[in-house]
Amino acid sequence: MAKIFMTAENLRDSLTQMRSKGQSIGFVPTMGALHEGHLTLARQALNDCDTCVVSIFVNPKQFAPHEDFDRYPRNLERDTALLESVGVQAIYAPTVDVIYPENFQTSVSVGAVSKPLEGECRPHFFTGVATVVARLLLQVMADKAYFGEKDYQQLQVIKRLQADLAIPTTIIGVPTVREESGLALSSRNAYLTPTERGIALSLQATLKDMSAKYHAGEPVPHIEDWAQQTLLNAGFERVDYMTLRDALTLNPPSAATTSHRVLGAAWLGKTRLIDNMPV
Ligand code: AMP
Repeated sequence: MAKIFMTAENLRDSLTQMRSKGQSIGFVPTMGALHEGHLTLARQALNDCDTCVVSIFVNPKQFAPHEDFDRYPRNLERDTALLESVGVQAIYAPTVDVIYPENFQTSVSVGAVSKPLEGECRPHFFTGVATVVARLLLQVMADKAYFGEKDYQQLQVIKRLQADLAIPTTIIGVPTVREESGLALSSRNAYLTPTERGIALSLQATLKDMSAKYHAGEPVPHIEDWAQQTLLNAGFERVDYMTLRDALTLNPPSAATTSHRVLGAAWLGKTRLIDNMPV
């Protein structure tokens, strides 16, 4: 059985006891609507640490007013059963007023790495993410915290945040978990109609082709234009970006770039999908 904690105080008391027995703590922050991607992070935490804490909190600060905060899928019972099935011992499921009590006034804003790509398309997003992740990391004070490469820029932002604020938790990135079809698992896939699911496959296929074209020596602007057009032809309504970037800064590659990443974000109906992969 997993213990469910609704307040930081209860969670902290329990974690203090575990630590006093010498147990290490791994932490996996999520917004719920769990799938195999989240469970993979939890399995890795359980593999590395004695206790795994998973938080489930749909963070209002990372949604703009027109985004899907209200319709984001929520099902604590199902999520609890899934987490218990992999052996997670502690679930932290705070309400909004536990995370943002009355008179909460602080926001955490990370610099350059949060500015391009998602930062341009969703100006609220990374400040909302950084604020909640800083608060959660400080509440849990885990030895290690696990984040998916599915949200690659977010992972880089969180690594920066952890280093800059000297939060004593090691940030671990976990490779993206995909369906057999190649589609990256995402809670938002639940919004897709069967036809849209078919179209969605072209996002990862096109990212793969971008990488192959780069290795074949095609110029980056050509590759990016081709990729955008390929997604539109496949049936995506709008492409926010399909781009090849420096894997550390997320800026366009420069002479200093040592590793590259292709990243994409595009719209199918009301659903925005993102994906990325190494080059
Ligand atoms: P979310 O609930 O969408 O905020 O995601 C919680 C954590 O799970 C984040 O660190 C995500 O990057 C990670 N995650 C989501 N989908 C996947 C996936 N398909 N593979 C690996 N990690 C994932």
